[in-house]
Amino acid sequence: MPAKWYEGEITEIRQLSPEVRQFTLKVQSEEQFRFLPGQFITMDLPVGEKRLDRWRSYSIANAPDDTGMLEFCILKLEGGLATTYLFDKIKTGDIIRFKGPDGGFVLPSDLNNEMVMICTGTGVAPFRSMLQYIIREGLTFKKIHLIFGTRYSNGILYKDEFEHIAREHQNFRYSVALSREDSVNCHHGYVHPIYMKEYEEKKEDVLFMICGWSRMIDEAVENLILRLGYDKSQVRYELYG
Ligand SMILES: Cc1cc2nc3c(=O)[nH]c(=O)nc-3n(C[C@H](O)[C@H](O)[C@H](O)COP(=O)(O)OP(=O)(O)OC[C@H]3O[C@@H](n4cnc5c(N)ncnc54)[C@H](O)[C@@H]3O)c2cc1C
Repeated sequence: MPAKWYEGEITEIRQLSPEVRQFTLKVQSEEQFRFLPGQFITMDLPVGEKRLDRWRSYSIANAPDDTGMLEFCILKLEGGLATTYLFDKIKTGDIIRFKGPDGGFVLPSDLNNEMVMICTGTGVAPFRSMLQYIIREGLTFKKIHLIFGTRYSNGILYKDEFEHIAREHQNFRYSVALSREDSVNCHHGYVHPIYMKEYEEKKEDVLFMICGWSRMIDEAVENLILRLGYDKSQVRYELYG
């Protein structure tokens, strides 16, 4: 089936951290834009001649609802074509063309397994969508542990939201790893030692979901499957690049 293209108006741009902004897009479509928590869309941005040079994918960071609003949290990459365009040129009221939703990195239908969500930086986006959905729908879940990594404390994304969920739900845990700063209540270092220690003893009923850039994902997959011996079916990931 050919991809369906949409247009969306940028309604808000919010600085989340020194390098990350949240862009809100209002889908302009008669019919409702439906997606599953964790999916992404692909924007067609005027940053190249060939269409593949122009396409960039972004995970939807909010839960599906009927407002047609989509939120994206995007990292500005030094010299990155699309992100320089999004950060330097795009303003509220502008229209972006996109296709989607796509992707199989979605909230599992069975939440009776323990879930460990591992991410760095904007890799938190699909997990925010999944968690918002779980909370809003009042879904019962066994245990969820969100492990978020970034360099400095000013790069922690959506901290208040996740701390709020942790206060309200005893079976949700939120751990933050800062690789370049010592800070109270945060682990110092990368995300890896956190799950390596806590899930060292292999369990059948735990699912690891990992999102971010290749170095972190490669390391996490190697740790979980090769070192700790988890089955491939217990490790899912979304690779940003
Ligand atoms: C399914 C999917 C979902 C995505 N969701 C998001 C999202 O929610 N938020 C988001 O910010 N990005 C997301 N991305 C990445 C996004 O699509 C772009 O690749 C990113 O914004 C860079 O585009 P650019 O044109 O600015 O950089 P380009 O001009 O394309 O240059 C990027 C180059 O730098 C490398 N690179 C880019 N970022 C990093 C990094 N952080 N660390 C190391 N190397 C890097 C790339 O591999 C590439 O070689 C997603 C990618 C995929 C495939």
